[in-house]
Amino acid sequence: GIRFEGVVKRFGDNVVLRELDFAVAPGERVTLIGPSGSGKTTILRLLMTLEKVDDGVIWVNGHPLSHMKRGERLVPADDKYLHKVRGDIGMVFQQFNLFPNMSVLRNVTEAPVHVLKLSRDEANERARGLLDLVGLADKADSHPAQLSGGQQQRVAIARALAMQPKILLLDEVTSALDPELVAGVLDVLRDIANETDITMLCVTHEMGFARDVSHRVLMFDQGQIVEEGSPEKIFSEPENQRTQDFLHAVL
Ligand code: ATP
Repeated sequence: GIRFEGVVKRFGDNVVLRELDFAVAPGERVTLIGPSGSGKTTILRLLMTLEKVDDGVIWVNGHPLSHMKRGERLVPADDKYLHKVRGDIGMVFQQFNLFPNMSVLRNVTEAPVHVLKLSRDEANERARGLLDLVGLADKADSHPAQLSGGQQQRVAIARALAMQPKILLLDEVTSALDPELVAGVLDVLRDIANETDITMLCVTHEMGFARDVSHRVLMFDQGQIVEEGSPEKIFSEPENQRTQDFLHAVL
């Protein structure tokens, strides 16, 4: 699971997260909603250690992201430690960032071969299973440029899952897609939610999807959680005025 404890993040004078506390239990699926600039993407970037906290602690599966134990002492985390803790986390971005010069199969096998040290055969087998899961078994030998945006995003999902993460972070994964391609990607993610016990933390503007897959929705505004609850509660009877205004604007 994930735990944020008093997390503060600033960019210059801009306080993006203000003593943020929340937790995501193992196997839980949580969606972050809220207006643009409320800090949702920053939360995912902190988890990927693409940014550093200014104060507070982020825990991933019981390990702090900022420091590690050396004997009895706590010392700042080094790259090797971070790499290991982050190994439990997979992320899919708005932009798919596939390797353009590699086949689809190679995109999915690259990290398992080089990071997990799987044999080429094992990695291929795993990748073919995942390409089947995302409906692209017949595209293994294609190159990214030959695929639609929705297909590329499904490859990116397969690529993230190939590392067998315990936690999957999804950052507005359909925002860059043409409208007619959105449903196919969301269907794949619904299947993954239904068929695995992977922990999911999603940022999305797709409220129907959030309602279907989330156990819990957190509404952010100005770097703080202003309301949280089941999707039924948040979408059907929000209590907070800012949640009501936000949903009114997006639905
Ligand atoms: P959106 O829905 O538009 O993606 P968001 O809720 O994900 O918004 P963030 O992307 O987390 O919001 O941004 C929160 C705030 O942090 C914004 O005010 C943004 O301008 C600022 N910010 C984010 N990254 C940086 C950065 N690298 N340098 C300076 N400011 C940043």
